[in-house]
Amino acid sequence: MSKKLVFKNKEELAGHIKTHGPSFYFSSQTSTVIPYDKLEQHLGLKDGEEFYLCDLSQMPAKMELLDNGNLQVQGAVSWKDAREFLKSKGRNIKTAPTEELALITAGLATSATGERCFAFGNLRSQVVRLKYFDYQGEEKELFRDKPLEIDGINFDQYREEFKAYSEFKNAPFPRFQNETDLLIGTEGQLGIITEVEIETTPNTGAQHLFMLLPKWEQDYSAHLEVIEKIQKFRDEVVVVELIDSNAFSFLPEDERPNQGKDAIFFEIKTEAFEKFYEEFLATLEGVNEEEIFELTETRFHNIRASVPRAVFEENSRMGVVKMGTDVQVRVQDFKALMDIYREFSKVGVRYNLFGHFGDAHLHFNFMPAPDDIELCKKRFEHLYEQVLKMKGSPFAEHGIGLIKQKYIQSFIGPVQKETFKALKDKLDPHRQFFPQGYMH
Ligand SMILES: Cc1cc2nc3c(=O)[nH]c(=O)nc-3n(C[C@H](O)[C@H](O)[C@H](O)COP(=O)(O)OP(=O)(O)OC[C@H]3O[C@@H](n4cnc5c(N)ncnc54)[C@H](O)[C@@H]3O)c2cc1C
Repeated sequence: MSKKLVFKNKEELAGHIKTHGPSFYFSSQTSTVIPYDKLEQHLGLKDGEEFYLCDLSQMPAKMELLDNGNLQVQGAVSWKDAREFLKSKGRNIKTAPTEELALITAGLATSATGERCFAFGNLRSQVVRLKYFDYQGEEKELFRDKPLEIDGINFDQYREEFKAYSEFKNAPFPRFQNETDLLIGTEGQLGIITEVEIETTPNTGAQHLFMLLPKWEQDYSAHLEVIEKIQKFRDEVVVVELIDSNAFSFLPEDERPNQGKDAIFFEIKTEAFEKFYEEFLATLEGVNEEEIFELTETRFHNIRASVPRAVFEENSRMGVVKMGTDVQVRVQDFKALMDIYREFSKVGVRYNLFGHFGDAHLHFNFMPAPDDIELCKKRFEHLYEQVLKMKGSPFAEHGIGLIKQKYIQSFIGPVQKETFKALKDKLDPHRQFFPQGYMH
């Protein structure tokens, strides 16, 4: 039997933690790897087992821009709240998940990334400090500039194996290098995050463009040219996102700017626009200049956010668990990844493709009818085998949650499993924090 609890302050939260009852904590419930509409079924609760579903979305929210330019966040603050607050002060966030209603504290738990990662790198590096409740209901503080050291746990081999993934947004397992890493990407399995200090950036002016390209299934040569050439412009360009022609079909017809084609969206710093134009746009051979258009910032963000949201909602309507990928590869392997997706496009199941193009990190989504689910699962198994061979990152931003645990097995070995167990024994001895999570 699960019991839902809603926490309205830290005292209530600490009081529950001290009971050591097995619990799953959540914030805005936008995770794509937790099937919220079928949660109890997926948690595999046994008859008579008492389990708590713990809502953190009502925790009192507070934001403060510190003198050092960092943003301090407490409680239920979303990325949208933070962006609006910072803009009023001439600054901006460095990480922007497409789903802006997600909470920042939860973003640390999932090691969220997003659109602005192209210019600013991953969230993990932007977290200066955080506070969390440990299993005894005590609030503890962790710092980025202190190395992670835990009595009785040797991280040497774990860190050595992490190096293979260090250039990706996220590896298939957390980093465990600095103190703050303990709570970043561990999906609430070691404690509950209550306060965060993250870096921000000055809010410089920007221009927003989109570029039409042929459908990638038919001709991806322009896509390949763009991804290769854009890599040198990470100081000038903040966002490089793709929405394919299939994904656009989820928008109402009069809101689709794509004329039946794929589109790549760019946010370019105004001060760098000339360089972007002369050294990037003007050098493209496969793109027609007449197919590049300017957009307002609001329209840009609305389109970019509405497409994945509509895809996500359609899956829920169909009663199927989301069947999307979250694979990031090195730019030199991008063509090989696209070749796999091209094969997927031929299996006869509806699909679409969108995501963080500049980082070679796209979400391919099957939109299966319930009868097609097994077929799609087989395709995904094949994909993850290939990603393993390419040494790519299988889950670069949405995490593992409940849905991806099956696929993670080949990416983690004895070293990771032993480290997870040692950490759980030490920091969650009663197995009260998300006992079904990937560290169990
Ligand atoms: C349309 C759409 C677009 C998306 N785009 C992106 C994207 O660009 N980048 C990206 O990274 N993700 C993206 N996501 C995924 C999702 O938004 C992120 O995973 C986000 O960080 C989840 O935040 P949430 O508040 O909804 O957390 P929830 O879904 O409520 O929880 C997610 C996980 O975090 C844990 N958790 C939540 N709060 C805490 C806490 N305070 N302390 C400890 N653990 C906690 C939970 O136990 C759970 O395992 C997208 C999702 C959707 C639906």
